[in-house]
Amino acid sequence: MNKSDSERIAGDYQARGYKEAHSWKEAHEIVVNTCAVRQSAEDRANGFLLNVKTYFSELKLPHAKLILTGCMTHHGDRKIYEMFPMIDEILPIGEVGFNSQAVRRDTYHAWVPISTGCNSFCTFCIVPYSRGREKSRPMHEIISEVKKLAREGYREVTLLGMNVNSWGLEKVGIGFRKLLMDKDKKFKREDLPSNQSQYLRPNGTPPFVKLIRRIAKIKGIEKIRFLTSNPWDFHDELIAEIARNNKIDRYIHLPIQSGSNKILKLMNRGYTKEDYINLVQKLRKKVPDVAIGTDIIVGFPGETETDFQETVSLANTMGWKIAFVARYSPRPGTASFRIYHDGISLKEKDRRWNILDEIINKKNLNIRPKIVK
Ligand code: SF4
Repeated sequence: MNKSDSERIAGDYQARGYKEAHSWKEAHEIVVNTCAVRQSAEDRANGFLLNVKTYFSELKLPHAKLILTGCMTHHGDRKIYEMFPMIDEILPIGEVGFNSQAVRRDTYHAWVPISTGCNSFCTFCIVPYSRGREKSRPMHEIISEVKKLAREGYREVTLLGMNVNSWGLEKVGIGFRKLLMDKDKKFKREDLPSNQSQYLRPNGTPPFVKLIRRIAKIKGIEKIRFLTSNPWDFHDELIAEIARNNKIDRYIHLPIQSGSNKILKLMNRGYTKEDYINLVQKLRKKVPDVAIGTDIIVGFPGETETDFQETVSLANTMGWKIAFVARYSPRPGTASFRIYHDGISLKEKDRRWNILDEIINKKNLNIRPKIVK
């Protein structure tokens, strides 16, 4: 998503008559598009900005204008200026429009954003705060961008959204949610995780499936990928569409985050381990050549050795092709930062990280065929 945003930021600059500098050392303006998903990402941005500042002041060169954008802007202007006194301007990431002309380096594959923001409120995640509530890009805009890409010679597109499955779905209003809870007194707020209660069930074919069908009909487009799908609303119709539409890539990214139901609940993920296994089984049955990758967080607050072993057991049995394993780091502003105690040491998080990396990623590396040039 950040790569796609950067392409659009570059497009906005070009439209205003700017040219890309060969290196940041030659630039008059530097836009730093940040990620706040983990502390290490913020540290990298910090390190880069310090480098830039030192370079210009030590060489006594005119100071390049430094503009910060991306997910770190959620800290708020005051804190950002405190953290990075060298920053000249903050560009809220929400202002990067869908329709800015992207400046792409790749000539074969293109990132195409279809939605922005997220309504899921997983307790560890900053996205709903940094990028705001989910907003679907209109179908006609997406289609015309993909048609243009096809005319320019692009053959592959990746549709981007924090949760592509809910693209175009009608949202459940707060009043309706309350009505649901009031009507059936068995429902309490905690029984209705925000991520499952934000949308009305699709009436017929889910809009995302309709979107994929329209894109698949565009002449010239040979491969369609999408990122990312939430397991809780990966509709059966989408599985059927993948099975019958061979333009859809056979790699599906399906984050599980944890193999323990207790931790999934604390994360407010809106599905159980059993739901996830069931979904993967359905996918594999209908799409036998599907490859599945995942995201996992280790060391989430409250994750005991027993909880972790439940994830290990899935790592041994799910057949994931790849896993992006992250050590939990509390993000200021998120629910887990406010509510839970980050009581697991970094050493222990490292241990858990290594175990999963070994089981899923290293093992797969060994069995991947060697590329002969
Ligand atoms: S689905 Fe959860 S993890 Fe993904 S962007 Fe939304 S809140 Fe974050």
